[in-house]
Amino acid sequence: MDITFTAEEVEFQNEVRVFFENDYPQDILEKNRNRQTISAEDMVRSQKALHARGWIAPNWPAEFGGTGWSPSKRFIFETEMARAGAPRVVPFGLSMVGPIIYTFGNEAQKKRFLPGILESNDWWCQGFSEPGAGSDLASLSTKAERDGDHYIVSGQKTWTTLAQYADWIFCLVRTSSEEKKQQGISFILIDMKSPGITVNPIVTIDGGREVNDVNFHEVRVPVENLIGEEGVGWTYAKMLLTHERTGIAGVARSKDQLETIKAIASKTDNGFGEMMSEDDDFLRRLSLVEIELMALEFTELRTLAAVQTGKAPGPESSILKIKGTEIQQSITELFVDLAGNYANAYLPEYYVPGSNVDGVGPDWAADATSKYFNYRKTSIYGGSNEIQKNIIAKAVLGL
Ligand SMILES: Cc1cc2nc3c(=O)[nH]c(=O)nc-3n(C[C@H](O)[C@H](O)[C@H](O)COP(=O)(O)OP(=O)(O)OC[C@H]3O[C@@H](n4cnc5c(N)ncnc54)[C@H](O)[C@@H]3O)c2cc1C
Repeated sequence: MDITFTAEEVEFQNEVRVFFENDYPQDILEKNRNRQTISAEDMVRSQKALHARGWIAPNWPAEFGGTGWSPSKRFIFETEMARAGAPRVVPFGLSMVGPIIYTFGNEAQKKRFLPGILESNDWWCQGFSEPGAGSDLASLSTKAERDGDHYIVSGQKTWTTLAQYADWIFCLVRTSSEEKKQQGISFILIDMKSPGITVNPIVTIDGGREVNDVNFHEVRVPVENLIGEEGVGWTYAKMLLTHERTGIAGVARSKDQLETIKAIASKTDNGFGEMMSEDDDFLRRLSLVEIELMALEFTELRTLAAVQTGKAPGPESSILKIKGTEIQQSITELFVDLAGNYANAYLPEYYVPGSNVDGVGPDWAADATSKYFNYRKTSIYGGSNEIQKNIIAKAVLGL
């Protein structure tokens, strides 16, 4: 495995740095650095700026409007984007359904849906999980019954992230009941404005609004919105989930967060006349996270090196997901440690992003506790970490 960057890659790194310094909305960087809420409108503006530069789809092949970059360039781009403080791209269109459409969709579907994803004119959400189907996703029961040239869809999806903004939802639905439950599942695209769809918020433990229940009551969906073959949706979903898990690892962002933690620690008193950066107990915990992160970065680079030689990412995506999310959670714990007393009381109703609730304590501490609570989600979504361990046990260890 060769993980040194070539001269061309170093030049590319500079090009990306210059773009974020000059041609990207600086107010969004400012907000994100100050740990303020990034609105849906900000996310769209951010993505449109990347699109204007031709960099919105690093994971897509050039023929469909992607950058066609090598995995190393994608790694550099991710790192520089996190370093600049830019928010993540919303993954549902660009990282999830986009690749499914250009891989398994027909020409008409590619023409109809890919431009809206690239230009961030269409906001997508993911309708996989249901109240009775999470880890055991193949037990899903949302039905799509054929009626002429439409499907009639009824059922409930849950935990649907950012559905409140969505124009479209990609769904796994049951089109037939077979002996093997993975069969009879189909992958369809549904316009969120269709009559019969209602979206209800689920308020998360930090008081936030990012997940929803989406109910379908006899929703008419044109048959032309079926991706690939009827009953083969499980195959497409598995590919999508591999992409989702690899994307969740967030190595570049965690590295950037650790740098922020170190900078704050050098200016924060531990209450015993030392800076937190001199506090042995804090340093021990910080070092453990840093070592884990360094190891994960090498795993990611090894995966990228394998992808570069033509291998598809397989169960590595599960390793990246488990370790990446454990590290993200540890980072939120380090922020709480640093915030000390200021992290004690957390009242979502009084929380003002980017400024401490009572005007007491540093601004960076304002969201320490809400992030700590919010990040409990990372070991659950994208397939829980326990399920990833099962995948590793089967696919890697052959148990
Ligand atoms: C914040 C958030 C956002 C999400 N966004 C989306 C979204 O946009 N779209 C979407 O479709 N879904 C989304 N999800 C759903 C997510 O994928 C599921 O929550 C996840 O797959 C777990 O399913 P479940 O919640 O039904 O838990 P369950 O499957 O009921 O699991 C409960 C517990 O049992 C454990 N468990 C279950 N089976 C096994 C087993 N065989 N071996 C060992 N342990 C097991 C699990 O690890 C977990 O700890 C989101 C979830 C969260 C929390």
